Amino acid sequence: MPSDTELTLTPPAYLYQDARRFLRFLRVAAQKHSVTVTVSISTAGTFRLSIPANQSAGLDAFLQEITFQHGLYYYLCAASNRRDVARLIVKPIIEGLLHSQYDVAYPVQIQKHLLEGTPDWAGGAFLEGTAQQYEILLQKHKLKMITPYEFVRDLDDLLTEFMLQQLEHPKGQQSPKFNVLVGMCGQKDVLRTKEARKLFNRVHSLRTKGLHRLEREIPDSEVTEIAQEVYYLFQWLDDYWRAQDEKTVLLSGRKYRRIRYGKEPIPKGAPIDFRTLWEELITRPCGDCGVIQGELHLDGCDLERCPRCGGQFMCCECRLTQDDLRNAE
Ligand SMILES: [Zn+2]
Ligand SMILES: [Zn+2]
Repeated sequence: MPSDTELTLTPPAYLYQDARRFLRFLRVAAQKHSVTVTVSISTAGTFRLSIPANQSAGLDAFLQEITFQHGLYYYLCAASNRRDVARLIVKPIIEGLLHSQYDVAYPVQIQKHLLEGTPDWAGGAFLEGTAQQYEILLQKHKLKMITPYEFVRDLDDLLTEFMLQQLEHPKGQQSPKFNVLVGMCGQKDVLRTKEARKLFNRVHSLRTKGLHRLEREIPDSEVTEIAQEVYYLFQWLDDYWRAQDEKTVLLSGRKYRRIRYGKEPIPKGAPIDFRTLWEELITRPCGDCGVIQGELHLDGCDLERCPRCGGQFMCCECRLTQDDLRNAE
């Protein structure tokens, strides 16, 4: 039996009214998809959100719509304290809801979408070739131009092509089996999470089953779920490549080298425990954006340090000044 989706949120006191307003918005918007969001508030100022397990399909449809129609972005445009509301209220809630439904999603992607209204699903958002092709395939699926099986078949081809490209496999030479390719991509850090590798193999096994005509009836809901997870994966990869290309940043008219994950200066006089803890921490991927030691954080990552002031790059003054300048233009 799947369990109910339960989330809690304790916003800072100055955002209490904003949290109430957002949850009211969420409750009303979810009703359109027959999803009942129950919200209670404790005297300590903790909001508790609950959605019955049997409404999972509706919740799925609701999350897709609200993300793809840019509902949250427009909601935030109208909010005062936009960045704080996005970071401390909307992001944790939407992140929690997405995690209850899908495997592959890094928090930083949600934040980026919220603040910039990235034109997801509208097409043309991705830079990389395979990712772009995937967007087209996805549109065909959404518009029901192809059957679920055809989607799986074309996706399987696309993923194979993608892996061969990433592994720089010479054209014309016999290629390794699909699951071997997945393993190789894992070792090369292209498919760095277990979830990503599982997802690729899941697509392939559905395709293989479909080779026997009788098993071509793949439920629409299953394909939609896979489509969504593959989308997140390509989105992450696209952001990842983009971030690695942006080695410098312009702040107050000066160019700075961005600080790589794991290369952050440790504050002078920091206790020895801090150093040990830190060194242990950076052996794992960045908790917000998923990069590993020595790589550049994805745009909007909570953990990136500012090369100018050493503060949190996401919200330090240096960056604000830059935004202000841009607005004034
Ligand atoms: Zn990061
Ligand atoms: Zn700064």
